[in-house]
Amino acid sequence: MSHRLLVLGWHNIEPTWAFGGTSPAAGRRGFERQVRFLRRWANVVPLRAALVDLLDGRALPPRAVALTFDDGYRDNVTTAAPLLRAAGLHATFFLVPGFLSGTSEVWWENLGWAFAHATAAELSWEGERFDTSTPDVRRRVMEVVVRKVKTLDSRDRENAVVDVAQRLLPVGPTRGPGRQFMDWDEADRLVEYGHDIGSHTCSHPILSREEPADQARELVDSREQLEAHFQRPVDVFAFPNGRAEDYSEVTLRLIREAGYTFAVTTRTALAHRDTPAREVPRVLVNAETGVVKIGRSGVRTVRRILAPGNRTAVNRVPIGFGRDRGPSPEGWEHPVSGGGSLERSIPPLLHRAFHPPVPRAHQLGSLPSLWLRDLRGRQTHNGNPMGYGGRGWPGAGKDANSGAAPGLDDSSPGTP
Ligand SMILES: [Zn+2]
Repeated sequence: MSHRLLVLGWHNIEPTWAFGGTSPAAGRRGFERQVRFLRRWANVVPLRAALVDLLDGRALPPRAVALTFDDGYRDNVTTAAPLLRAAGLHATFFLVPGFLSGTSEVWWENLGWAFAHATAAELSWEGERFDTSTPDVRRRVMEVVVRKVKTLDSRDRENAVVDVAQRLLPVGPTRGPGRQFMDWDEADRLVEYGHDIGSHTCSHPILSREEPADQARELVDSREQLEAHFQRPVDVFAFPNGRAEDYSEVTLRLIREAGYTFAVTTRTALAHRDTPAREVPRVLVNAETGVVKIGRSGVRTVRRILAPGNRTAVNRVPIGFGRDRGPSPEGWEHPVSGGGSLERSIPPLLHRAFHPPVPRAHQLGSLPSLWLRDLRGRQTHNGNPMGYGGRGWPGAGKDANSGAAPGLDDSSPGTP
């Protein structure tokens, strides 16, 4: 048994204007590899149910991993969700009603498009001059701009993005082939596939930059809209951007008042039994490379987190990358492309959490259908533990109250 949970977070699968990558096919192939890897090496658990158990002190399967996706990129529903369904793996999708309706601007993609299509050799902005004559320097300038506009509230940020975009003199079609974000009808398929829905605000503001009344509206309205559309409770939230400075004590209070039981950040760490329910850490990955850069940049952090006796780990150190891949809307934690694969990077990174391999008899096998059936019945939402120590977990269920799944022995040296 284990008392740790790794929550992974993706955004897009295929390259976008803001999030580069090799090609759509490379993104899909990369994600397929990741799914195969997760099936083999992890026990993928539904996020909400796992958090209920973990924070109540009940054990999870060894190497428990929950999968999440932010923002509602369309490839989540066309590519990721079907692949996950075929593999029998469950995920939670954090959606933004304003993006689903097409009524909110996705400022980082607008900015990414403008930089990708810039014809101006130089950008004058905020009293500074930047060379924008080549794609490489443009990417670096975009990082600077993104970092700066993230300090603004959403109104000022929107104005700044329009201003920068105009100065770059972009030329090209305003839209690529197809929509970049899913709509409400497409989002229905996520639920049909058995996945779960969470809120990611109405319009994706960085909450700590907003007035409390605006924060409250984003939190309450997004929840109500998602619940009304999907006809199911929505009480899991993902912070836009998600770093420590992107939410405040006020935000945390408003999240509670808005009816969210859990909230996930983008602060890199494993969740454990003492993790605050509304500050659950995540490790962001991308489809092409998984956690390579996290392995490089965050290995020391993770080692510290996993050090014996350390049960209070919430990493406050943002992992600094994005240099190769362009700025990330979710902070600088978004992994960059190139350099390896999830298969190669997870084992050394989380060796102690992920060791030893799951006994063959306890691999996913027929579990997913049980989980998915339970999910459709909303059993994940009544606080009823599921999938481990309860029905649905092979070899378990006889002693559900203990929270321990008989026969599951995690002898990981890093697990207390
Ligand atoms: Zn987001």
